[in-house]
Amino acid sequence: MSALLPQTGPDVPVVRFAPSPNGLLHLGHARSALLNARFAERNGGTYLLRIEDIDRERSRPAFETAIYDDLRWLGLSWPEPVRRQSDRFEIYGQALGELGKLGLIYPAFLSRAEIRSRVAAAEAGGTTWPRDPDGAPLYPGTERDMPDAQRAARIASGAPFAWRLDMARALQGIEQPLTWREAGEEDGNGAPHTADPSAWGDVILARRDTPASYHLSVVLDDHDQKITDVIRGQDLFAATSIHRLLQEVLGLRAPVYRHHRLVVDETGRKLSKSDADTALAALREDGCTPATVARLAGIDADLEPFASAV
Ligand code: GLU
Repeated sequence: MSALLPQTGPDVPVVRFAPSPNGLLHLGHARSALLNARFAERNGGTYLLRIEDIDRERSRPAFETAIYDDLRWLGLSWPEPVRRQSDRFEIYGQALGELGKLGLIYPAFLSRAEIRSRVAAAEAGGTTWPRDPDGAPLYPGTERDMPDAQRAARIASGAPFAWRLDMARALQGIEQPLTWREAGEEDGNGAPHTADPSAWGDVILARRDTPASYHLSVVLDDHDQKITDVIRGQDLFAATSIHRLLQEVLGLRAPVYRHHRLVVDETGRKLSKSDADTALAALREDGCTPATVARLAGIDADLEPFASAV
């Protein structure tokens, strides 16, 4: 069978590298892509590439082309056709509709500036406003119980809004404790890790014109593509709590999570797409070989946490 054809079966790992085409891939992406590919290779599994391009404003075809070029240059291959999330808005919209029927989402009309000023006013009065794991203030949630007629009128007036998860209500409906299997580099051998979705408050699941957010689309696609092991950066560790909650509420499979250490710059900061000098394209132009990039990305031949399935 061709190495490029997806294998199937209960014991065959399926992994994915899921970049967003909103900038050039850098060493951190190389680390993720290579760890995923290596894991699939060692375990006789399948390595998928998924283009996470739901953000229509920031995604660019040129960056998508650059993703293919960079990954091929690194020596990676994947089954075609590649899944592109922008082709799946209808599916995400259906799941959002299900959450609506369950009464778990509500339209939230406060703009970012309005949220900021409410938080500032509360903090000026001596209240410490709760922050999410990324440091952003939790949504005030004042519109959770807005009467239906008022909601309908606001929507009909063309007011912009986002669909937010009613976190407290979603948590009421699921069995506790909510856990995931973590087998990453920092902590984990596949043992259950307790999720804490409430730390995120009423997260955005969609916007008026985009019936999906990263959190919603990622769990739907991981389920649909039968991903067994999600290998991604430690920066998404905390977000896994939201993913687990959505999986429970929507009846989706939960993969094993394997969060890996991030590649950092000389000052210890995580790399970003705006640091042009760690872009794979720039390194390639400077004469780096794929082997050098793998070394700079901290890929070690014996990276044990990613050597085998749990
Ligand atoms: N698309 C996300 C990113 O580029 C990665 C999502 C994931 O691996 O869950 O950061």
